[in-house]
Amino acid sequence: MKELPAFAGGTPVRNKKLYYSHQYIDEADIRAVEEVLRSDYLTTGPHITECEEKLCRVTGAKHAVLCSNDTAALHMAVMAIGLGPGDELITTPITFAASANCALYMGARPVFADIDEATWNIDPACIEACITPRTKAVVAVDYGGQSVNQDAILALKKKYGFVYIEDAAHSIGTSYKGKPVGSFADMTTLSFHAVKTITGGEGGAVLTDSEELYEKLLLLRTHGITRNPAQMVHQPDGPWYYEQVALAPNYRITDMQAALISSQLDKLPAFAERKKKIVARYNEAFSKLPGCIVQQETAGSDTVRHLYVLRINPAHLSINRRQFFDAMEAENIVCNVHYIPIYYFPYYEKLGYQKGLCPKAEQLYEEMLTIPLFYAMTDQDVEDVIHAVTKILTYYET
Ligand SMILES: *Cc1c(COP(=O)(O)O)cnc(C)c1O
Repeated sequence: MKELPAFAGGTPVRNKKLYYSHQYIDEADIRAVEEVLRSDYLTTGPHITECEEKLCRVTGAKHAVLCSNDTAALHMAVMAIGLGPGDELITTPITFAASANCALYMGARPVFADIDEATWNIDPACIEACITPRTKAVVAVDYGGQSVNQDAILALKKKYGFVYIEDAAHSIGTSYKGKPVGSFADMTTLSFHAVKTITGGEGGAVLTDSEELYEKLLLLRTHGITRNPAQMVHQPDGPWYYEQVALAPNYRITDMQAALISSQLDKLPAFAERKKKIVARYNEAFSKLPGCIVQQETAGSDTVRHLYVLRINPAHLSINRRQFFDAMEAENIVCNVHYIPIYYFPYYEKLGYQKGLCPKAEQLYEEMLTIPLFYAMTDQDVEDVIHAVTKILTYYET
């Protein structure tokens, strides 16, 4: 093993830094936000409904509830099903912490199911092995943007009767066997954080086909307060009257953000097309290199990727992931790692989770690196990344 930091030598592939992700904001986005700022509504205004309707059209869901972020969306989803102490929620360790934290907010226990070796998504067989009489929900994450194995998860749902929540923070625009993500789970959650495919700066949503869950989600977005007389316990005192009938935080989003998300959604087909082209080019280039392993597609997934994750193949390489990361940085390409297995975090350690729980996820964590993938990348940027990866993996090939 060569000493840290690794550098494949010569002049850097780029002289200007390229980061793993960057938002794309055009004049239409700016005008959309500006128009709201000049209007009467800054928070719950007409763009919330407009954006929710657009989300339903894009995802095939009956209802969409726009909210402040995906963490809030996941919290609303578990509040809506009354998750509580004694309940278990199964999820993957290779995701952002919010996918599991939503169980902890409710006093329930997250249970981690290992990943599939080829797709790096949660493995349905591992979900089944984790099921107990206490299992109330499964939060499946479309890791990197590719759909989870919907058929297998829906078959398990039928067999065991859990609530299926899909954390689709990465996968807006993706479809599975011809149907868009958003039309499979009981509730599907979205993120509009700045690095995600569609952004509002911050933002999130819960999608559902269920009238009952939809009514609950509307309450849970805003303090558990209703202005609908049909949901009230007492007779209204007057036009100002409202009632708090449940306990919930304020998870509303501003009209400025809704207008921005709405404007961004108009560009989703263009974002999807460009990302698919970049991914195809990356796959073609990287599948030729023995030093790395390319993520395999879930059968049936037509994927709009949020992340392009490359896995090194230690059997053919004299450097580790950290050294690969450093070598990429020396070429002025700033990568990232998605994700640290959730149960490695001290907060989870204190709750009794230990290493060794999900060996495949842990092995993946040791070997993976997120390389740049975003709409605004130029063809030259893409070739620079390929050049740098090829240069490093060839230099350190054994
Ligand atoms: C980004 C992300 C979240 C959190 O989304 P926020 O909108 O930032 O709260 C949750 N889950 C996954 C898989 C994510 O990538």
